[in-house]
Amino acid sequence: MDIKDCIFCKIVRGEIPSKGVYRDDLVYAFHDINPVAPTHILIIPIKHIVGVQSLEPEDECVVGHMFYVARRIAEDLGLAPDEDLNRGYRLVFNVGRDAGQSVFHLHLHLIGGRRMSWPPG
Ligand code: 5GP
Ligand code: ZN
Repeated sequence: MDIKDCIFCKIVRGEIPSKGVYRDDLVYAFHDINPVAPTHILIIPIKHIVGVQSLEPEDECVVGHMFYVARRIAEDLGLAPDEDLNRGYRLVFNVGRDAGQSVFHLHLHLIGGRRMSWPPG
């Protein structure tokens, strides 16, 4: 697929509307259009990266930044675990179709606001 047809690149450029929660030079975070929990945010790199399966050494910084941004957003939304480590949220990368990846632009799911089960389906 051509990068110019990538829906998340279009979201980054504002060609497809989205409900943003955070943006900087490296990442953009916005609400998932089809939330699986009361909070479902996607954190994506501004740069087009297909997924974890195509990460290069030069991408290590942006992936680390995605986790830090996820942590900050989760805190802002009141999802962070308390001192007894109750509450919490889940951070997920789906890697490849069998794992559930349907959009081939790297994205970190931040999911929370309900009790979650393990193992995932
Ligand atoms: P994946 O299945 O690839 O791990 O996750 C892709 C996610 O992107 C899904 O949760 C899906 O609901 C979300 N998504 C797909 N298209 C759009 C869109 O146009 N806007 C938004 N906000 N989310 C989208
Ligand atoms: Zn893209």
